[in-house]
Amino acid sequence: MSEWLFHTDSYLREFPARVTAVQGNLVALDRTAFYPTGGGQPCDHGWIVANSQRWTVTNVRKDGDEIWHEVSETPPAVGTEVAGSLEWERRYSLMRTHTALHMLAGVIWRAYGAQVTGGNMEPLRARMDFEFESMRRELVEEIEQKVNQEITAARPIQTKILPRDEAFAIPDLIRTKINLLPEGIAQIRVVDIVGLDLQADGGTHVANTREVGCIKIVDYKSKGKSNKRLEIQVSDG
Ligand SMILES: [Zn+2]
Repeated sequence: MSEWLFHTDSYLREFPARVTAVQGNLVALDRTAFYPTGGGQPCDHGWIVANSQRWTVTNVRKDGDEIWHEVSETPPAVGTEVAGSLEWERRYSLMRTHTALHMLAGVIWRAYGAQVTGGNMEPLRARMDFEFESMRRELVEEIEQKVNQEITAARPIQTKILPRDEAFAIPDLIRTKINLLPEGIAQIRVVDIVGLDLQADGGTHVANTREVGCIKIVDYKSKGKSNKRLEIQVSDG
């Protein structure tokens, strides 16, 4: 199993590693900063370099505990020392977008008591579904303003890896899907937008809400009595 460098340092964009397994066009490394698709966040893209040859990483996915990097040509052999590097613009955009979604969830929970039921993102654009019966079009601007106020409040964002018991003792985490986590998981990673939102989450986030920039709610859809969808765009503000 590889060391997941992105879990402790979202800003790491270059790293040395060793090839531990190869399957067709897939490469596993002893350590990686490449985020694999999961938790609503798309995977990173980038490059692996060894012996003056460069492979493009076009897809990254998790299979059990292993992270597989899909490369464009026949991969380097097992044991090769490589240098990995991320396509940073894509990753950083995803960090800003992912944090923006947590802020949207935090604001809506705090102001209206509505819970998230699902979501998805691409760089600088995302959607989130809520169980939010009182939602109506007139609230769109108000929600947008509240999120942008929280962005300018420059809240720090901290990620911590906690023992399961400790995580379960945090009241804020109960409202998220922490109860659905398999019993075998001994440690839980939490993402804390200090003073706004705390969630069990495996994604990569910015270190301060200011880095998000500015959000705009570009679409609102009622998909039933209580199921409401908001779509956001993230910009430099
Ligand atoms: Zn998340």
